[in-house]
Amino acid sequence: MQGSFDLLKPVCRQFLQIRIAYLCLMTVGTKRLLLINPANSYRKGYLLRRESKQVPLALGILASLTPPEWSIKILDENFREFRFRDADLVGITAVTASANRAFEIATVYREKGIPVVLGGIHVSSMPEEALKFADTVVVGEAEGVWKQLLRDFDSGNLRKIYSSALSDMNNMPPARHDLFHPGYIFASIQTSRGCPMDCGFCSVPFFNGRQYRLRNPEAVVDEIASVANKLIYFVDDNIIGYNKEAEIHAATIFEGMIRRNLKKEWFAQVSLNIVEKPGLLKLAAKSGCRMLLIGIEAENPDALKDTNKRVNLRLGVDNYQKAFRMLHRHGIVVLGAFIFGMETDSVESLEKRTKYVLSSSVDVVQASVMTPLPGTKLFDKISREDRLLCRNFPKDWQHFHFSDVVFKPAGMTAEELARATDSAYRKICNMNAIRLKFIRTLWNTRSLRSAVWAWNSNMNYRSVGLEKRSEYKY
Ligand code: SF4
Repeated sequence: MQGSFDLLKPVCRQFLQIRIAYLCLMTVGTKRLLLINPANSYRKGYLLRRESKQVPLALGILASLTPPEWSIKILDENFREFRFRDADLVGITAVTASANRAFEIATVYREKGIPVVLGGIHVSSMPEEALKFADTVVVGEAEGVWKQLLRDFDSGNLRKIYSSALSDMNNMPPARHDLFHPGYIFASIQTSRGCPMDCGFCSVPFFNGRQYRLRNPEAVVDEIASVANKLIYFVDDNIIGYNKEAEIHAATIFEGMIRRNLKKEWFAQVSLNIVEKPGLLKLAAKSGCRMLLIGIEAENPDALKDTNKRVNLRLGVDNYQKAFRMLHRHGIVVLGAFIFGMETDSVESLEKRTKYVLSSSVDVVQASVMTPLPGTKLFDKISREDRLLCRNFPKDWQHFHFSDVVFKPAGMTAEELARATDSAYRKICNMNAIRLKFIRTLWNTRSLRSAVWAWNSNMNYRSVGLEKRSEYKY
């Protein structure tokens, strides 16, 4: 009897193992996580052209941090309007302009009893508002609390608020690029977070802190090598930073791209201090840099002082042209970002800014209406002085997309600012102006490829600038 039981032992063990494996298999993928990237349904200019759509990178990073027993899907309104899809847990990210849309989608899920987590830069600055639409709100960079949040979900103990410290960038995993919509032309990669500057209109110091945090450069290069896209957008606020460590970090990444012969073309944001780093600029160009966005903001020092744009003041507005020439010598397109509606601006100064934009050798123009985003010093000031014109929140957040006038400016009426901006858009986005910029870029960079980059980028901004506005009344 004992003998036949011994004979059965391995059979039982094998049966047990198969049973366990089956149960595991049944468990894997049974929890469904839906991550949603909402789009501003009122202004869709950036979504009209594939070239200007930007990957919801934060969702891809959270997906990387999610344990394997979850099946994950990203719903991305950059490509397709939201349609309900069942899930066990929903995570939605939002910037200010897409916050209202995020709340609308969150409401759909909550009405069906599906828990919703809201996060991102807007809800981090206004968590109380977000809590009206979500079960849980993540304040700050979500990576630091994501795994805990999922464990709490498993045990039925989701908290209302998770406050996250700044994440450890050195160990940041690569994003799950496989989950992004295949229609993106640019792959987004992040190499660092944080900015030590303190420009009054910018929410980066509030959300990402004032310390540079740098990712392991080898991990960055591995991530670049892993994506199929030939075109890369480095989403950092300033890829070269302001200190030696950040400069070496950027150089190591560029050298890695050259050494591994990745043959990518890329663009990124930098500050004007790039002119102080000719060696780095050379490496950037060699590694495939085609275009750099520089926060010019304004061509007059008073406006720069008012917004605390210290780096531009230190290097001097008279050196702008020299900076543009340096980039051109390396075949790099200058994407100049300008702001209309600073506190010192008047109708006349905006006319001068428009003339400057058109006559300077900036190749691509990003002209934004000053917008006080929650979390910034500017927002606090404008609110304190009771100058917000769009204030029917959350609906009015959809106007905070840098093309509408949402507050009463200091040096003119809201209508005057709106008219001055419209007039500037019409001149900057005029096809003759874009053709002229193309020829000048070709001449200055001696590169047809760079001129084509400039052309495409100007056409992207044209689709935003000339987009029909709503009937918003001031
Ligand atoms: S605008 Fe640029 S330089 Fe100024 S705080 Fe923001 S990220 Fe830093």
